[in-house]
Amino acid sequence: MARSTVAVSTKPKPAVPTTVVTGGAGFLGSHLTERLLAEGHKVIGVDNLITGSTRNIEHLAGNDRYRFIRANVSEYIFIPGDVDYVFHFASPASPIDYLELPIPTLKVGALGTHNALGLAKDKGATFLLASTSECYGDPLVHPQKEDYWGNVNPIGPRGVYDEAKRFAEAMTMAYHRFHGMDTKIVRIFNTYGPRMRLRDGRVVPAFIGQALTNQPLTIFGDGTQTRSFCYVSDLIDGIFRLSQSDFHEPVNIGNPREMTIKQFGEEIIRITGTPSQLEFKPLPEDDPKVRQPDITRARTLLGWEPKVDFDEGIRKTIEYFRGQI
Ligand code: UDP
Repeated sequence: MARSTVAVSTKPKPAVPTTVVTGGAGFLGSHLTERLLAEGHKVIGVDNLITGSTRNIEHLAGNDRYRFIRANVSEYIFIPGDVDYVFHFASPASPIDYLELPIPTLKVGALGTHNALGLAKDKGATFLLASTSECYGDPLVHPQKEDYWGNVNPIGPRGVYDEAKRFAEAMTMAYHRFHGMDTKIVRIFNTYGPRMRLRDGRVVPAFIGQALTNQPLTIFGDGTQTRSFCYVSDLIDGIFRLSQSDFHEPVNIGNPREMTIKQFGEEIIRITGTPSQLEFKPLPEDDPKVRQPDITRARTLLGWEPKVDFDEGIRKTIEYFRGQI
């Protein structure tokens, strides 16, 4: 395994670290914030709310270790005082969002990452980049290991997200190698759970929303494409462990339990008990045919693996969406 040989200089962490979470009002950002608060951190959430929502963080109002700043991290980020960690999670992240917001997606992956790295460098903070399995594109290697370079169409509809995140990884490694910064990169695979947006277009909210309103479940293509779904608390645990490690190369975090999208639809029908049927629609351009993380690196380095089984995670997610409909 490629280990970085760069001498890293970080300032010692205080008992109550101060942590900036960009994208702090998003699905993952808000769950990460809760974990960091539980670990005793002070958290400053930054979000411009283009896909995030204050509803995800309203329960934190009144917590004197939490502060929210509404700002666009693709512009300059100003945070007064000490900062010990910067978690860069800001980005539109569903295929529909980045089709609708192609330029903000490119900007937050490029300019936003540059600003977040600059903030971390200025403060002597540890930096963690939320990267993605989309770096592997439509993969020709299966399951995907971190040393696979990927198969990405730079000018296709997903290119704005994939290439921005690949640039963000390159920028992060450059700050690590050139400035000796303590940086980490997590490649996040499909994740689900409460606080996903019902209408973000991703398959989990789409199918659950359709099942709960007795609409047909819209399978794109023939449904033989595969995904591997990780429950959000497992993902956040892997990310927190990575933030505490001394590893600087990318690490996959995701659940290797792979299924076809057709099987996923059938499971949603079974678990919700809906009379809905499957309905087949055209497959979007460049939709990856397979996706499954190889998590050997996370297992070995972080002692991490997912614990929440599919039925349990999906039932909790369905309960959340019932309250949203
Ligand atoms: N998908 C689908 N029906 C939907 C939404 C998505 O069949 O209503 C498929 C999509 O084509 C892809 C998979 O489900 O093959 C996962 O899509 P998602 O948007 O959740 O994220 P992706 O993993 O493609 O980034």
